[in-house]
Amino acid sequence: MKKNQIKTVKGFNEVLPPESFRWRLVEDKFRDLLEGYGFAELRLALLEPTELFARSIGGETDIVEKEMYTFSDRSDRSLTLRPEGTASVVRAFNQYSLGKINEINKLYYVGPMFRYERPQKGRYRQFHQLGAEVFGEESFFQDAETLLMLAQLFHTLSVEGVVLHLNSLGCELCRPTFRDQLKSFLLERQTSLCSDCQRRMQENPLRALDCKNPSCREAVVDAPQINQSLCDDCRQHFSGLCTLLDNAELDYQVNPKLVRGLDYYTRTTFEFLAGGLGAQNAVAAGGRYDRLVAELGGKMTPAFGFAIGFERLMMLAGDKLAPLSSPFVALVPLGEEALRLLFPLYMELNRSAKVATLNFQQKSLKSQLKKADRDGVKYTLIVGPDELAQGVAICRNMQTKEQTQLSFDKLGEALRELYHEY
Ligand code: ATP
Ligand code: MG
Repeated sequence: MKKNQIKTVKGFNEVLPPESFRWRLVEDKFRDLLEGYGFAELRLALLEPTELFARSIGGETDIVEKEMYTFSDRSDRSLTLRPEGTASVVRAFNQYSLGKINEINKLYYVGPMFRYERPQKGRYRQFHQLGAEVFGEESFFQDAETLLMLAQLFHTLSVEGVVLHLNSLGCELCRPTFRDQLKSFLLERQTSLCSDCQRRMQENPLRALDCKNPSCREAVVDAPQINQSLCDDCRQHFSGLCTLLDNAELDYQVNPKLVRGLDYYTRTTFEFLAGGLGAQNAVAAGGRYDRLVAELGGKMTPAFGFAIGFERLMMLAGDKLAPLSSPFVALVPLGEEALRLLFPLYMELNRSAKVATLNFQQKSLKSQLKKADRDGVKYTLIVGPDELAQGVAICRNMQTKEQTQLSFDKLGEALRELYHEY
């Protein structure tokens, strides 16, 4: 890389071929699976009013406190590149009154997110998420549908060793009691907590439960557990979900410390954790947020959602995907006249699928055959001056090395026949 060349902003992850082909395979599987369960795609703005995230994700969260790309535009409005998808989907749900159109709305999104974090393996400043949200369904059947669907996605992609961690955070009735209990517990251990947790303790004591700081981890080992203080409704909701997962034979671990780093969750929260990803081991996460739609100015609407980290999913799925398919035939012209003859055939063959290659630079036979070999094509179709004179092309089977002559007027037909046999 030369000194005066321009590079991406640090930590902004881009996807190049052939990796981009694999990304699309996985994205297609995700879309097919979700559309099968009645989800439809939302394509949303990447830039939002900063207030949206401050109000939804919560002021004392890592994302809002230190990870957002926030700046003023030319008319001094504070804007933020979206750090996650849920807030925007809820904003859109309210803005377009989607709840009035359908009683249940199932929406998914695919796209980049932006967080100012320290770039490392599995953690970038521009990364990508596959996510979905369901609005209007309070039942734990919805939680189960979504979690089992995610497990199906991992299965379809042959991703193994992903374990579901599950918790319930209760609701506005039972959480305050727990918060108070936890606050007193933390107060007694205040000096062992990191500065973030000390500062957030009053407003947001739950955050200390999933702080990564070793000394905080140790301090909360015997902390009160939220699942001990759930109200009856929350308890039934959670046990209803667990039963459905048990019946479907999906393995999971109840993890009472899983509180997630965002403020909007109620009841079910979850993460899918993978071995083999190192410290960045959460491949997907989400939960229920029954109050957020109303908190952002809409009607009270229960909701459940998740986001998958696309980069982390690709690290797990990458090499298990089917190899990329090769083009079927390399058209090999020797000289400009042969190139002119083969060009319309090339255009026609590729109309609906990648079938043929054709090089416009009039290279030697040897170099064109070498490239055809590298591309892994099944046949080459060679037209040189002799063939032009006779009105034929040489069709060479690259595996058997067998060669046949095809006459010009039957070229398209003959190739289509070979392609269909193959
Ligand atoms: P982590 O604990 O790894 O910071 P998180 O709780 O901040 O994750 P969420 O906000 O729940 O992550 O986002 C959902 C998923 O998006 C994560 O499980 C992860 O797979 C992915 N993700 C989050 N932040 C990043 C990032 N900076 N780079 C790449 N992927 C990310
Ligand atoms: Mg994070």
